[in-house]
Amino acid sequence: MSEQEQIILDTVDRFLARDVAPVAQALEREDVYPHELVEKMKALGLFGATIGEAYGGLGLPASTYVKIVERISAVWMSVSGIFNSHLIMCAAVEQFGTQSMKESVLPRMATGELRGGIALTEPDCGTDLQAVRTRAVRDGDEYVIDGTKQWITNSVEGNILAVLVKTDPDTTPAHKGMSLILVEKHAGYRATKLKKLGYRGVDTGEVQFDGVRVPAENLVGEQEGRGLQQILSGLALGRINVAARGVGVARAALDASVRYAQERKTFGVPIGQHQAIQIKLADMVTRVEAARLLTEKAAIAYDEADRCDMEAGMAKLFATEAAVENSMEALRIHGAYGYSPDNPVERYYRDAPLLVIGEGTNEMMRLIIARQLIERNPI
Ligand SMILES: Cc1cc2nc3c(=O)[nH]c(=O)nc-3n(C[C@H](O)[C@H](O)[C@H](O)COP(=O)(O)OP(=O)(O)OC[C@H]3O[C@@H](n4cnc5c(N)ncnc54)[C@H](O)[C@@H]3O)c2cc1C
Repeated sequence: MSEQEQIILDTVDRFLARDVAPVAQALEREDVYPHELVEKMKALGLFGATIGEAYGGLGLPASTYVKIVERISAVWMSVSGIFNSHLIMCAAVEQFGTQSMKESVLPRMATGELRGGIALTEPDCGTDLQAVRTRAVRDGDEYVIDGTKQWITNSVEGNILAVLVKTDPDTTPAHKGMSLILVEKHAGYRATKLKKLGYRGVDTGEVQFDGVRVPAENLVGEQEGRGLQQILSGLALGRINVAARGVGVARAALDASVRYAQERKTFGVPIGQHQAIQIKLADMVTRVEAARLLTEKAAIAYDEADRCDMEAGMAKLFATEAAVENSMEALRIHGAYGYSPDNPVERYYRDAPLLVIGEGTNEMMRLIIARQLIERNPI
């Protein structure tokens, strides 16, 4: 670990201990957006974590970013949601946007003045993104956008979205008629907050576009028809980041269990002395270590600009299933106390399932891994 990375991680740890840990449980329970934390995150530079220094960001490699995301998610996963999909959007803009788009948008995103998200999913499609129906029609120097997006994180409290649209709904294959367009909130979309099992506090909404007009230069890249490919490239970072969240939640569940196994006594001894509990702890710590190694490997592949969809897929699959399994085991180890909303273990159990759904479901991760495995091993 470099000295600079250590300084950054120490700063994040102080922020988590001083500002996040004391409020996480109450804000999550009431589903309250953490405005004060967002101001502190701006000051820390988290909204620009992976944006290049040329655009005012910290320019951190993914290998440092995953350590930040793991730490934050181990304390309160929703806080990572506030800047993670924002940075996926930034990655797509930085990689594919025109120079003038990058100069106009990225510096404001790096400070958190603009806080973004990615609007892909619709009421009738999530995995099958080629089925999106949201339409953008060119009208002179503008696009006019109509449609509905669903489950969009940062759509209510944030102020800019990268929206996946059909610019040509009749083309086959369908992805050649899809584009990515940036839409600022003042252009007029309406976002309504949705209720969720977990991952509360951070806003996830339904977004309505009724004739929303944006300048034609808000198209990402020079040409229409590249939107799906652009956002899928951003999702490689997204999947690595979800894997890091999985490591964080799995570790938090483990840490709580290791403590409780030494405090709680049954039959005259701490429960950690019963083999049944020891076996659970052994499996939990092994999952955390393995998940972290896969996540770090995927992050390094991303930093080295290797093709990393297989590595990102394996990390996402393993680490998020580890979060689900560890949170369930933590709940069992805590007995009835794990079932109480006063105990963070109950929150880990509600937060973890999102990770197997978001940024591509784990069913799809298995397909991606298998296809890559075969492609990389021709006979
Ligand atoms: C809290 C939360 C936040 C979210 N934030 C965002 C966001 O910011 N932006 C955004 O765009 N979306 C967001 N989403 C949506 C998320 O990305 C989608 O839910 C996800 O992509 C899955 O799509 P779906 O729910 O429509 O499921 P579907 O695509 O309908 O899939 C249903 C089931 O079928 C399986 N399945 C589908 N196709 C196949 C196949 N070919 N082979 C095998 N199995 C298959 C899936 O794995 C799943 O189990 C969020 C969701 C949640 C819950």
